[in-house]
Amino acid sequence: MSQQFQSAPAPVRTDTAPSVASSATAASVPVFKTGRVPAPKYPVRRRWKAATRRIRELATVGHALLSKNHPVMAQIVPARFCNLSCTYCNEYDKVSEPTPLPEMLRRIDELARLGTSIITISGGEPLTHPELDEVIARIRHHGRIAGMITNGYLLMPDRIERLNRAGLDHMQISIDNIMPDETSKKSLKVLDRKLEMLREYADFHVNINSVVGGGISNPQDAITIGRRAIELGFTSTIGIIHDGDGQLKPLGGEERRVWAEMRGWKKTNYSKFNKFQEAIANAEPNDWRCRAGARYLYVCEDGLVHYCSQKRGFPGIPVAEYTKADIKREYITEKGCAPHCTVSCVHQISYIDHWRSPQTRSNHPGVSEGLVNIEL
Ligand code: SF4
Ligand code: SF4
Repeated sequence: MSQQFQSAPAPVRTDTAPSVASSATAASVPVFKTGRVPAPKYPVRRRWKAATRRIRELATVGHALLSKNHPVMAQIVPARFCNLSCTYCNEYDKVSEPTPLPEMLRRIDELARLGTSIITISGGEPLTHPELDEVIARIRHHGRIAGMITNGYLLMPDRIERLNRAGLDHMQISIDNIMPDETSKKSLKVLDRKLEMLREYADFHVNINSVVGGGISNPQDAITIGRRAIELGFTSTIGIIHDGDGQLKPLGGEERRVWAEMRGWKKTNYSKFNKFQEAIANAEPNDWRCRAGARYLYVCEDGLVHYCSQKRGFPGIPVAEYTKADIKREYITEKGCAPHCTVSCVHQISYIDHWRSPQTRSNHPGVSEGLVNIEL
């Protein structure tokens, strides 16, 4: 699952990755008062970490503009197992064991060798991996930005403090509805306590992604969730879930109204990217150059590099064998699935290079069976 950083692309999934452009921030939205927001525990330390994180993100953007030969972001899966069973999702199972730590560390080292700037941990549910802190610490040991996409269920104060110590930079939690139902248990009612814990203890940036589409019964819930996120001092994004058949479907009337309202909470300079989002909402084709396999890598639990979560098997090369030649080849390879792609995190990463290097090869990856389409 893919999704948001504000100045630099951040971690990606709907419990997916951060985004440069699909966000709203606290200053522009009416505050949702409950009187239950605790003061953060370490405000000075938190501000210092936020300032240094921002400098590192700006350096990442600068490096991406200067060099085309490294991945800007990789998403890596340490555990395919998930403790939940959202009906729209098939990026999880109930049987997989966590990838052993030494193997995870080797894969992080390989991503660093390739020059990857941002490494986002997803799953399944990454917090079910017992040694996740060491994976995060390894990312930071290499000086890279560390992100995570989680359903948040396993967060507790001590776990949050461990993530602080490991050096996590960004966390994204996707909240699908207010009350749990048969589609999703990622609900504000269940997770609000976890959000308050994050507010009090987390030194890292937190983004809350709410969604419309994909069988979510009440689109209005997204507005309540977004307002609550902003009230707690987090950023908020809105994503679109598409059905798992790989086809774009236009949003319904109420879904579209909610989506437009939340996207209007903050103006963005990424007008081109907003056009991407608009076309996705309308189920219209987009004209863009997908740089998956080059600027964005998806590394599955078996350690293979894929274009993205929806195109697993392409190119399907072990990360330990991935080379700069692979990056150069995929950079100039046009993907046949691009016009109707819903993977916004790859849109965002690819936008860095939109103005340069036309693609002269082509590949038409087929349908990856059984994969979820979640747009961030
Ligand atoms: S089942 Fe739900 S919580 Fe688990 S990975 Fe899928 S979307 Fe995330
Ligand atoms: S265009 Fe295809 S390969 Fe690129 S992100 Fe979209 S689905 Fe994945």
